[in-house]
Amino acid sequence: MKKRFAMAVDTVRCVGCNACVISCKTENDLPNGGFRDWIVQEVGGAFPDLSMEIRSERCNQCSKPSCVDACPTGASHVNEGGVVGVTKGKCTGCKACIAACPYGARYVHPAGFVDKCTFCLHRVRKGHEPACVETCPTRSLTFGDLSDPDSPVARLVRSRRNKVLRPEAGNAPNVFFLS
Ligand code: SF4
Ligand code: SF4
Ligand code: SF4
Repeated sequence: MKKRFAMAVDTVRCVGCNACVISCKTENDLPNGGFRDWIVQEVGGAFPDLSMEIRSERCNQCSKPSCVDACPTGASHVNEGGVVGVTKGKCTGCKACIAACPYGARYVHPAGFVDKCTFCLHRVRKGHEPACVETCPTRSLTFGDLSDPDSPVARLVRSRRNKVLRPEAGNAPNVFFLS
């Protein structure tokens, strides 16, 4: 069966330490002010029953990627496992993809092209985990092939209560937030 790479983000385990953000910046040599992942802290409920959800967010590697549809040059494309990529040399920096992404997952690199999370495909192709997954000290992040029912990510999505962000956008995200 075709691979469908996905990530499960455990919002119960995550402490918001930013290790995933720092490791991504280092691994992918991101410029000052450029981020492929980020931490969101959201307070829910009503006083005195308040709760806080901490999420490590990144590109959702959508099954229906509006960024790819919006790209006029073909720079934004779908790689193996459904991972959305940007070919630097084809990107004109027009920002159509940034406007089309419901998740704010892309930014303009100072060199003039648009950049985003790649699920660290360069590492995955060599049999390694994405940098953020490997670094997370609380093991909150699980990466793998969702179409393999025995993979840890598929098991987690099956067994734990979870959500995707902004499902109403219709992009069919592949990052699942476990609660
Ligand atoms: Fe594209 Fe945004 Fe979906 Fe990532 S999250 S695949 S950048 S639409
Ligand atoms: Fe495509 Fe680049 Fe324009 Fe985005 S900025 S739509 S990737 S050409
Ligand atoms: Fe960054 Fe790789 Fe994690 Fe994506 S998968 S946020 S590129 S470290």
